[in-house]
Amino acid sequence: MPELPEVENVRQGLERLIVGQKIKAVNVLWSNIIKDPTVEDFKQNLIGETFLSINRRGKFLLFETTDYIVISHLRMEGKYKLESEEHPPTKHTHVIFSLNNGKELRYLDVRKFGKMSLVEKSKAYEHPSLRSLGPEPNEELTLSHVSAFLRNRKRSIKACLLDQKMVAGIGNIYADEILFASGIHPERQGHTLSSTEQKKLKEAIVTIMKKAVEAGGTTIRTYANAFGDSGSFQNQLMVYGKEGEPCPNCQTAFIKTKVAQRGTHYCPLCQK
Ligand SMILES: [Zn+2]
Repeated sequence: MPELPEVENVRQGLERLIVGQKIKAVNVLWSNIIKDPTVEDFKQNLIGETFLSINRRGKFLLFETTDYIVISHLRMEGKYKLESEEHPPTKHTHVIFSLNNGKELRYLDVRKFGKMSLVEKSKAYEHPSLRSLGPEPNEELTLSHVSAFLRNRKRSIKACLLDQKMVAGIGNIYADEILFASGIHPERQGHTLSSTEQKKLKEAIVTIMKKAVEAGGTTIRTYANAFGDSGSFQNQLMVYGKEGEPCPNCQTAFIKTKVAQRGTHYCPLCQK
């Protein structure tokens, strides 16, 4: 599943390729991808609109057009591709935006879990998908927000990191990397972190997400972004996917277990 760094990589690719393009037509081949409004309104409102910018909030892509924002979540395997209109779409193509340069922006999704919403620009941040998101994992994230979120939290710290209200954009891979860098055991209850640990955690969130964005995200298995750019952060992973391998700090074998229903990797000695 793409997390913030991978979505940011897609955003940058889209921005280079579609900003300034006008939408001639919209074709929805699998209507469940469109969350709101109706498929008919989604199509009609976008015809004649121009893509002005592509932004991102957490794991959501935000396509700004003349009057609207398309909020898009790729979920497990959603992808965008830019192809010429002569090139026939595959069976995994579910939404097609025909552009005035003869190209088509196509949304592909093997699992069909992705979602799109269309909202008026002034109301975008009030949309249910966006309004409860926590801060971005950069200078927006403060220690006081982290402390307030963790107070009385009985859930595991891993589950807290995956909660988009604590911080937006973190998923399974980066949660494991952040906890290893902070020396915190993934099963610790959120409220048990000391103030020193909260500070370490907050700093690891910001540092690791920044490095991952700079590397273009992590490319594992089949996930690659729409435009063939592959991220390289897989070469910097310390703990994710390394069960049985020695921890570089203490040589103890990394363990893989399940926390918050997700495969979780950690060092039993370094992570207290
Ligand atoms: Zn260790």
